[in-house]
Amino acid sequence: DGVFSTLSDRLTTVLQGLRGKGRLSDADIDATAREIRVALLEADVALPVVRGFIAKVKERAKGAEVHQALNPAQQVVKIVNEELVNVLGGETRRLNLAKNPPSVIMLAGLQGAGKTTLAGKLARWLKGQGHTPLLVAADLQRPNAVTQLQVVGERAGVPVFAPEPGNGVGNPVEVSRRGIEEAKAKQHDIVLVDTAGRLGVDEEMMKQAIDIRAAVDPDEVLFVVDAMVGQDAINTATAFRDGVGFTGVVLTKLDGDARGGAALSVREVTGQPILFASNGEKLEDFDVFHPDRMASRILG
Ligand code: GDP
Repeated sequence: DGVFSTLSDRLTTVLQGLRGKGRLSDADIDATAREIRVALLEADVALPVVRGFIAKVKERAKGAEVHQALNPAQQVVKIVNEELVNVLGGETRRLNLAKNPPSVIMLAGLQGAGKTTLAGKLARWLKGQGHTPLLVAADLQRPNAVTQLQVVGERAGVPVFAPEPGNGVGNPVEVSRRGIEEAKAKQHDIVLVDTAGRLGVDEEMMKQAIDIRAAVDPDEVLFVVDAMVGQDAINTATAFRDGVGFTGVVLTKLDGDARGGAALSVREVTGQPILFASNGEKLEDFDVFHPDRMASRILG
């Protein structure tokens, strides 16, 4: 199940192959590292990430002291697990909120990445944590985006500030700005700004995102990325990092059946932490991202 299922099966098989060995020679470690390398590449993990990962696993496995409690196979599993946690960001990174509310969270990413759905999920989750979020519909590109946000807002029980005559209709920067004013006036403590994507990275989209970021001065810019899009996700992530810039990543569609190497590469490639993950279309299919739990899941 999910975008890591094949990788998970492969890694489990490779590591099980070490079981029962009394001692691992450097040749054993090299052979295992080669198999892990192939598994990662076939899962679509970006090449530089794979290289770094394999180098660390080899170095640590060869240098490992004889461990009292663990046999050699268990020791390699432990090292692979720890390096997976590192690639996924190490510690869980919590949402950065403003000292003086409202906190502003801007969502950015390509069309279809799952931004609008994520806005609803995050709003619902924040409400469950005792916050009083406001959703702002600043995606004026996709014909249905505003209505879609109103639908998820209703499901989440969170109000939506939508462009209407008099509050910036037609101008996403103006809508965003007025959304923040509305939040201040109505005492919402968090504002979630949904912005427009395009099917591919596009100069006009990026300029709009940059203008919205400048206008709302967000505490977080979350880059929303579809874990199923493979290597392309890395180019998209780099373009958003160098364009509007972002402070965190949200992975979506982890429930999919494509190869999820993008999810394993994005932290290392962009240098920004993964904060949340989505694994389904329903509002509750969403959680805080924990690198250690994800690594354990991948290693079965
Ligand atoms: P946006 O264009 O970035 O706002 O993307 P949407 O929120 O409209 O999502 C695009 C499609 O992906 C919709 O059909 C969503 O239901 C679907 N979707 C979003 N998140 C997930 C997820 O985590 N898993 C699955 N399977 N589908 C998702």
